[in-house]
Amino acid sequence: MDDKQKKIDFDKWLESERKHQDMCGTYDFCKYCDKKLENPCAKAVEAISKALNETAYVSKKRP
Ligand SMILES: [Zn+2]
Repeated sequence: MDDKQKKIDFDKWLESERKHQDMCGTYDFCKYCDKKLENPCAKAVEAISKALNETAYVSKKRP
């Protein structure tokens, strides 16, 4: 899954938040969702963007 795909999923998630529909489980990132938590999708997106930032940081450090 590339960054563009993640961006699309993120947009889909924002859309479902606006519509107040529980779309959890329909996104690629939902494999990271912990359904025991409140707003699992939001937490998954947070974790993914953090992971992406860390990956970018690591790749910058490498030649
Ligand atoms: Zn989810």
